[in-house]
Amino acid sequence: MDQGLVIVFTGSGKGKTSAALGTALRASGHGMYVSMVQFIKSPLPTGEAQAAGRLAPELEFISMGRGFVTGEKGAIPLSEHRKAAADALSLARQRARSGYWDVLILDEINNAVKLGLVDIEDVLNLVRSKQPKLHVVLTGRDAHPDLIALADLVSEISDVKHPFERGVPARKGIDF
Ligand code: ATP
Ligand code: MG
Repeated sequence: MDQGLVIVFTGSGKGKTSAALGTALRASGHGMYVSMVQFIKSPLPTGEAQAAGRLAPELEFISMGRGFVTGEKGAIPLSEHRKAAADALSLARQRARSGYWDVLILDEINNAVKLGLVDIEDVLNLVRSKQPKLHVVLTGRDAHPDLIALADLVSEISDVKHPFERGVPARKGIDF
């Protein structure tokens, strides 16, 4: 019972990051220390980033990405996205081994693996070398099969309907 869980929220439907944030809220309410490290997403004044400030120091919220990855011809070169992802991973590794944190959330890390910004072996090694009691939550679509095999809990959220399909843009308080 002392062993932390490895939890994956994946799938093409909306709710993966939201589920991770729900976990963060729940754990921090118990006085547990939660670190949420976001891959790909750049620092923006989202509702979650602003609310996290009010839950400090139990909750820390760090966005280490450079934003939407658009490939070789994008405004931000792939090399910069890779560097940002490597920095996020090394911070995550430190958090995983420190013993200070109770829950570590690696948001959008599955996408970072899928896009080739992060090596799946590095993710698996991070999980294997974590403090035994630490819970780790990994989110993002297309979770790697080796991560799914290693995890204790995997939820796949399927896309049944999304207003985006009707041209409705992201909504404050719902999507950011
Ligand atoms: P959320 O952060 O809302 O929990 P998510 O983490 O499951 O969503 P991501 O793939 O990280 O989903 O994408 C984040 C953004 O994309 C959100 O604004 C979300 O509403 C939107 N989104 C998620 N799933 C879909 C979908 N199937 N079609 C269109 N937009 C989507
Ligand atoms: Mg997400």
